[in-house]
Amino acid sequence: MAEESNKQKLPNILVSGTPGVGKTTFCESIAEQTGLKHMRVNDVILEKKFHEGKDEERDCLIVDEDKVCKQNFQYLCIVFFSLMFPIHLLFVKQIQLCDYLEDELQGGGYVVDTHLCGTFPPEWFDLVIVLRCDNTVLYDRLQQREETNDTNKNLFICADRGYSQSKIGENVEAEIMQVVLDEALEEYGNGKVIELQNDTIEHMEKNIQKFVDWLSNWQKHQND
Ligand code: ADP
Ligand code: MN
Repeated sequence: MAEESNKQKLPNILVSGTPGVGKTTFCESIAEQTGLKHMRVNDVILEKKFHEGKDEERDCLIVDEDKVCKQNFQYLCIVFFSLMFPIHLLFVKQIQLCDYLEDELQGGGYVVDTHLCGTFPPEWFDLVIVLRCDNTVLYDRLQQREETNDTNKNLFICADRGYSQSKIGENVEAEIMQVVLDEALEEYGNGKVIELQNDTIEHMEKNIQKFVDWLSNWQKHQND
């Protein structure tokens, strides 16, 4: 009994940003330092096949953000028709990503790593971190990634209305236009979103420290 009440509640954190800004590296570090669990949304999409097939031209898997979570009339129609005609099961998969994540995140303690940031209900997250990167630095990182051709590091997931993983220019442009930051601010609001510059190792160390401080502060307030 006593043990149960001592059990600390942990927050869920969304870490977002343009591909290449350093989300996975950052999440790995904070997971290691804090014991939070690192959830790579790209891996979930691939493993559970929560995508709509491949965009051959852009060489990426398509995730239609508008269909992932928005449970509206259209959603109910899709479910209805899916039951009638199995071919529509394709659409239901998009919604299953949200269901899957919702179940996983329920107990708290996740750091969710994804560039699909305007997709999830705001109440899932206690903090949203948007990593930013200087465009020339980002260009070099993406170029390097392309050359190494490490498929693990270069998961081809692209949002329907966004930019692709494979086209370096599109990503760099999206970073300059701060597409992800604007999306995060719109979806989660000023109070929950923090923007962190992540060009260098020094930046990353500072960012990790900032997060660790935030976490201990958050936990303190839970006990109040
Ligand atoms: P994302 O998950 O956002 O696509 P990654 O974490 O895979 O980005 O990082 C992309 C590349 O940039 C990797 O080679 C990684 O080692 C490097 N990197 C990430 N963060 C930094 C940083 N703060 N300073 C220098 N290099 C970084
Ligand atoms: Mn990544």
